Amino acid sequence: MRIDLHTHTTASDGTDTPAELVRNAAAAGLDVVAITDHDTTAGWAEAEAARPAGLSLVRGMEMSCVGRGVDGWPVSVHLLAYLFDPADTGFAAERERLRGERVQRLRAMAEQMAADGLPVDPDAVLASAGPAAGRPHLARALVEAGVVPSVEAAFAQLLAANGPYYVEKADTPLHRAVEMIAAAGGVSVLAHGRARARGRLLDLAEIADLAALGLGGLEIDHPDHSTQDRTVLRDLAGEYGLLTTGSSDYHGANKTIALGACTTDPAQFEKLTGRATGVPVLAS
Ligand SMILES: [Zn+2]
Ligand SMILES: [Zn+2]
Repeated sequence: MRIDLHTHTTASDGTDTPAELVRNAAAAGLDVVAITDHDTTAGWAEAEAARPAGLSLVRGMEMSCVGRGVDGWPVSVHLLAYLFDPADTGFAAERERLRGERVQRLRAMAEQMAADGLPVDPDAVLASAGPAAGRPHLARALVEAGVVPSVEAAFAQLLAANGPYYVEKADTPLHRAVEMIAAAGGVSVLAHGRARARGRLLDLAEIADLAALGLGGLEIDHPDHSTQDRTVLRDLAGEYGLLTTGSSDYHGANKTIALGACTTDPAQFEKLTGRATGVPVLAS
């Protein structure tokens, strides 16, 4: 059984459409794939409709949250939410709020660039970005306009948190997100909790509180985690009775990581599905 529980599509910042994702997952020899776009379930229906026979589909999302960093200051944290009920009103309202934040923030960044004379059209960027508008969309617009040679350069020079055009967005407090996902019948898994190349790290002392609030698990095997990171997280999962996952965090052509680059142990997957009461895994 090959299980990959973290992927992105064109519903957020991946390059495969949801239909292409499920077809590529089957072609890559996966038995189970989860669709986990940023702050949106917009790709679910297309993935469901295109799911090839024999591939199980886990409907999920990767939520933008804010936790407490190792230095005590707020830090951006990603939380995977699996098999929750999309109609749960509290959680649906929060996703709606996050989408609004994404659009406003991207518009503010693009407008500041245009005001400074960079060849960026805020309306065009927003129109092409779709429901999960994010900095990668602005990065690609900057590449296409010839401002920077690559998406990486766009982030390094213009879009990073310490860059000249960065605008904050009000993400969900991590403990609230854990509670909301549980209330919607879903299972929450902390995404790439030790990926330090992405910025400052979450204070792992938070894990004890989150576990008490209903956190389901920790993503351990992730392309951005070193062997040592994985050991630290695995020990924590053991200490607090959390399930463990492994996933590629596939983004199609936006990153070089292949589907199934990291995978989840079937016994852990069974634990995850056993706890979810929101929507079922789509199988057979
Ligand atoms: Zn992430
Ligand atoms: Zn991701």
